[in-house]
Amino acid sequence: MSDYDYDLIVIGAGSGGTRTARISASYGAKTLVVEGDRAGGTCVLRGCVPKKLLVYASQFSEQVSDAEGFCWQVDGFKSNWNKLIKKKNKELDRLHEIYVNLIKNSGCDLISGWGKIEDPNLVSITKENGKIINFSAKKIMIAVGGEASFPEFEGNQYMINSDKALDLNQLPKSIAIYGSGYIAVEFAGIFNGFGVDTHLIFRADKVLRGFDNDIRDQLMSSMKEKGITIHNEVTISKINKNNDNYNINLSNGNILNLDLVMGATGRNPKISGLGLKDIDLNLGSRGEVLVNNYAQTNINSIYAIGDVTDKVTLTPVAINEGHAFADREFGNKERFISYDNIPSAVFSQPSIAVVGLSKEEAVKKGYQVIEFKSEFRAMKNTISGNPERTLMKLIVDDNSQKVIGAHMIGPDSAEIIQGIAIAIKAGALKSDFDATIGIHPSAAEEFVTMRS
Ligand code: NDP
Repeated sequence: MSDYDYDLIVIGAGSGGTRTARISASYGAKTLVVEGDRAGGTCVLRGCVPKKLLVYASQFSEQVSDAEGFCWQVDGFKSNWNKLIKKKNKELDRLHEIYVNLIKNSGCDLISGWGKIEDPNLVSITKENGKIINFSAKKIMIAVGGEASFPEFEGNQYMINSDKALDLNQLPKSIAIYGSGYIAVEFAGIFNGFGVDTHLIFRADKVLRGFDNDIRDQLMSSMKEKGITIHNEVTISKINKNNDNYNINLSNGNILNLDLVMGATGRNPKISGLGLKDIDLNLGSRGEVLVNNYAQTNINSIYAIGDVTDKVTLTPVAINEGHAFADREFGNKERFISYDNIPSAVFSQPSIAVVGLSKEEAVKKGYQVIEFKSEFRAMKNTISGNPERTLMKLIVDDNSQKVIGAHMIGPDSAEIIQGIAIAIKAGALKSDFDATIGIHPSAAEEFVTMRS
């Protein structure tokens, strides 16, 4: 009989933790999942899923205007935000139940409460009623994700984070969004689509630091065209609360008077309350749990995956890290995931998707780069009158002729780039792209017809 209550305790029932637990249990590991909030985690309950539902909802205003361009008569078209939020929450309840069933049906125990690591093999769980219970385990997995973080300035407590922005009872008439990363540009598109006077405030010259420069320029100009006010190269120095709105003081001396302020200035690992410092677990400067290739911390029995490690903060990466951990530790398979060519998408409006290197990154890495570019107005937009343009780029290594990057801003970019990612992962040459027959008429065919 084992000396421990469990083979594995997973702290956090988000996408990564749930996959870790299910696959470990499928190999026969006696597994306990501990979750302080609701099973499902950030992506399902407070991130990707509700965000994308609201992105869909917000796009109908532009689609109706496109429909008018195609000679539909559209009368009395209006949204009901409050009803939409209730429907969205009902869908999240359904997904939460699915997660609970996934965990339980795979043979794991699930306990509701906040986990704390007391020693390398012991987890205490504080239940909602304050009762504390302890369980021991041979291995402990930290899969607790991250949480929004705001810079320090007077009045920063008035900013709402993305969790709150997804759950507003009422739509504001105007909003300031601070930041220009994934979350900021996605929410700017959502609020703007619902007709909210939307202001995007950020310190850089362009949105989405780290993305291809042409794509960043194109998103900025599309956002402006759609009605978003851009305040770049400024920071917020102070926020004052009035009776029913806020004065937002900017570093350039301007003061905005708006209904709501949202902060989207990055996320930090959610380690508070886990007791990691007390057990001398090695953390990085932002509180991230430091792990080796085996997802193992400096304490041999404790592992971590996903956002809490701050390596690649994307749900599919956490899921794959957790699956590979379970394969290695309980499935007797020495399997590791590859961090090369991870595709990602930003559900801004228009959306962006990328895989591989940007031209700037490739040059920095010493590649001799050839860049292929196609910029056009999609066929649908000719009759609809929508001025939005699509941009696609391929980055090719001149020596090997391999395609090392693909970038797109335009409708359905995530759907298109997912397929291109397979080709790039398989090491496709530019000549393979050229030899592929296009699907006509489509935007995606541009990826196989770029010649200059
Ligand atoms: P990001 O890291 O993408 O962006 C953070 C933003 O905040 C940047 O504009 C950054 O500016 C700014 N910022 C950071 N610190 C300060 C500061 N002290 N003062 C002023 N501005 C500051 O974080 P997000 O919160 O948008 O998203 C977190 C992560 O979640 C993403 O990195 C991504 O991995 C994941 N995510 C993925 C999504 C997807 O896959 N579609 C959707 C949403 C989130 P600067 O650029 O100048 O550094």
